[in-house]
Amino acid sequence: MKSNRLNNVFCLSCNEQLVGSTSVTDDNELPDEGAVSICFNCGGIALFTLVDGDFALRPGTIEELESINADEGVRHVFDLMERAKGGQL
Ligand SMILES: [Zn+2]
Repeated sequence: MKSNRLNNVFCLSCNEQLVGSTSVTDDNELPDEGAVSICFNCGGIALFTLVDGDFALRPGTIEELESINADEGVRHVFDLMERAKGGQL
């Protein structure tokens, strides 16, 4: 996993500022266009995009969200978030 700081990126659901991104693979240091963002404050899902060379978030299409919902990696992140909220981590 690699983490990077982000500037002026805000969750589309709760408006919490995302101060960083963490890749779940070893080969992606920075988010790719269309990479999934999961807000650790509210669990909001969005996709990374570039606007004038800066990272931003955009909502997913219905097809993208269906694909994200079926992804085992995303489900694992939500499981970890639920366990963390329950004090199990
Ligand atoms: Zn959020």
